[in-house]
Amino acid sequence: MKNFAYARAENVGSAIQSITQLQNAKFLGGGTNLVDLMRENIEQPDHLVDLTALPLAQVEELSDGGMSIGALVTNSHLAAHPLIRARYPVLSEAILHGASGQIRNMATTGGNLMQRTRCYYFYDTHARCNKRAPGTGCDALEGFNRMHAILGASEACIATHPSDMCVALAALDATVQVTGANGKRAIPLVDFHRLPEDTPQTDTNLQPDELITAVELPALPCARHSRYRKVRDRASYAFALVSVAAALEVKDGTITQARLALGGVAHKPWRAFAAEKILVGAPAGEDTFKAAAAEELKVARGYQHNAFKIELARRTMMSVLTTLAHEGGAR
Ligand code: SF4
Repeated sequence: MKNFAYARAENVGSAIQSITQLQNAKFLGGGTNLVDLMRENIEQPDHLVDLTALPLAQVEELSDGGMSIGALVTNSHLAAHPLIRARYPVLSEAILHGASGQIRNMATTGGNLMQRTRCYYFYDTHARCNKRAPGTGCDALEGFNRMHAILGASEACIATHPSDMCVALAALDATVQVTGANGKRAIPLVDFHRLPEDTPQTDTNLQPDELITAVELPALPCARHSRYRKVRDRASYAFALVSVAAALEVKDGTITQARLALGGVAHKPWRAFAAEKILVGAPAGEDTFKAAAAEELKVARGYQHNAFKIELARRTMMSVLTTLAHEGGAR
């Protein structure tokens, strides 16, 4: 690992001042997965600005019934929080399906949003990778692409976003609160991460001088009736082949509210807006779920080793929606 200078930020203002003034600087929260990337020489910052002293580790109820989650709240704390478990169970379940207990104890909410793809070629400095070295090509296109994207990919990059937590946040209409040199702004979670297009080296729409301070969840009645399902190669400590975060509210057999997002299938958490349009106002049953999944996957494209994910995504959506409907939209 290359040598770097270390500075501890005392407040949000000094953190932003440091990142603006220092050349090639990175924020450090829990270290997942920046430290991995530094060990592998993928990221080589000259300066690390340690954020862990900032007062951003609170989970708070908002006056409108929503929740504010500080950027330094650990994944373990958030998953166990009683209000999150009661009002947004899909978020708690998604977090507990990610990483290991030890990692969740260190990993932060802000860091979870900023983690980078686990594409094997991205971590192999001998491989061609447009995300690591723009313009060099993409060895995953013709390589072993079993974990790769089936939605929203480009000829430049077919990587997937690794987070479970962010899939639930995408389904829950979360917003990312950020502060930068030009002030504060709120970015909808679904617009926070990018599709690769021809610039896969840029993962998010966060500006270089901006710091995530919190993630906010709106009051969302259907979120009480929500679930997360993750399909992976082994039962723990594995990334999703496909995951589904869903919330459903059913009244008199008709779906009145639906939220659906997919993980492991795209460069960003994939909010299934097309499927939601089919679901809302339709009878809560197999025909509706089949039509919704088909509509969402109409644009899916498989590569040599991952075409199976299209059928897997269809079946996982059907399974989660059927489970929620059988529960009457209630857990
Ligand atoms: Fe790099 Fe993306 Fe290709 Fe993986 S899929 S090798 S991250 S360009």
